[in-house]
Amino acid sequence: MKLSIFKEVRKIKGIKQRKSIIIFMMIIALAILSVNVYKVSKNSIIVFDEMIPEVESLNEYEIEAAFYESDKIVEGVQKINYINKSSKNIKTVYFHIYPNAFRTEETVPFEESEMDLAYTEGFEPGYINIGSVKSTRGDLSFLIIGKGNSILKINLDEELEAGEETKIYIDFVIKIPPANGRFGYGKNTINLGNWYPIAARIDESGWSLDPYYSIGDPFYSDVANYRVVMTMPPDYVLASTGDLIKKESIDGKHRWTFEAKKVRDFAMIASDKYKVIEGEFQNISIRSYYFEDESAELSLKAAKDSLKIFHELFGKYPYNHFSVAASDFFIGGMEYPKLVFIDEGIYKGNDDILEYVIVHETAHQWWYGLVGNNEVEEAWLDEALTEYSTLLYYENKYGKEKRDEVYKRMILEGYDIYRHFNSDSNETILKGLGDFKSSREYQALVYYKGAMFLDFLRGELGDETFFDTLKIYFEKYKYKNATTEDFIKVCEMVSDRELKNLFNKWLIDGEE
Ligand SMILES: [Zn+2]
Repeated sequence: MKLSIFKEVRKIKGIKQRKSIIIFMMIIALAILSVNVYKVSKNSIIVFDEMIPEVESLNEYEIEAAFYESDKIVEGVQKINYINKSSKNIKTVYFHIYPNAFRTEETVPFEESEMDLAYTEGFEPGYINIGSVKSTRGDLSFLIIGKGNSILKINLDEELEAGEETKIYIDFVIKIPPANGRFGYGKNTINLGNWYPIAARIDESGWSLDPYYSIGDPFYSDVANYRVVMTMPPDYVLASTGDLIKKESIDGKHRWTFEAKKVRDFAMIASDKYKVIEGEFQNISIRSYYFEDESAELSLKAAKDSLKIFHELFGKYPYNHFSVAASDFFIGGMEYPKLVFIDEGIYKGNDDILEYVIVHETAHQWWYGLVGNNEVEEAWLDEALTEYSTLLYYENKYGKEKRDEVYKRMILEGYDIYRHFNSDSNETILKGLGDFKSSREYQALVYYKGAMFLDFLRGELGDETFFDTLKIYFEKYKYKNATTEDFIKVCEMVSDRELKNLFNKWLIDGEE
């Protein structure tokens, strides 16, 4: 569902004497009308005179799965209480079945130069086989389509009206490839990212059915509720997006039951070598899953401190756990709701990088996890905010000098090196993943130049307005998907300035 735009916005300033009355009115307004009033700083309140769509209608996934160690296979049965979130009647629904991209070397989500790092023992296919698709009335016909056969098209047996729900049952088998990526296994871990059929998004402009690009994180989904049961050999420790509801021993195996509410995806990671240490921040349990090394404490501390800083800067982390998991993953780190995969290679004697990567992935809990966006079309929106948030962690934890040093080393120098070798490149930050020439270009523009832009924007707006903007953007769009347009509107509203040209200059024209 596309979010409605602001109809009218007022900014109220200088209300010191009337503050208590306004806060009281604000609470009443929130309670009665669900209109959206944000108190953003000492003497500033923002009123949105528009109803924000509530996240009342969520898809519900129930997945019962079993992992077979020798073949690296997962058999799954998935029931989805599926809601038509579009404004039209639909007869067809689509799911992403990302594991199919791993079937051939041509469609795997790695660049050619990455293949040796991804498949250290050589390429072997991974995939998902769909056994059957059913409704409560019987079999449904389906087709597997798209580049890499990564889209499941299901023909419903009757039209689903806007807002109406139906139950869909999918039987599947996945083969996990020997790949050090989001979906794959290595020497230590079984990585289950983007592993089950997940509903494609639909809005006024239609379905988003993008393939599994090798550049970026090509995902776009709505928050949903999950109940996932996984049966595994007993020597495995399993971390996931969900809260552990129970762990039973059945026929010599462990049956783990997890639940997660209002999350954008559901990932798991397992290892028979994991050790776990745990910390806490305001009743949020923070866990570090690691192997034989000394950086476990550092990773726990980086996760905990960054969670606390972002919680204070942007808004409340609403879940009750967050896990950082060392993994066979060669690309640094990968964010999933409440769980991040971190390349175990950087746990060994590279504490600066480890801290940076963990903080980056933790910031994604706000930008991607809670405030979602189309990561295929507008990757900059979550990535640049995440990269800039990482700098804010250094600024808040260590002070400005350290932040400047990290900014220079991790952002400015990276960008300068890229520019040096690519002086003629197109500098557009806001473009689809298919329009980037390489991961290098993607990183330089989306991460580095994106963060440079946000630093410039902060200078233009001033600290108070800039941080008010981030808080309001978070509050307004958490559990939903936002667009660049939405972000610009919040910036304009909070600053009382016309900023479209500035955004266009940086994001589209590629100027500074
Ligand atoms: Zn990122």
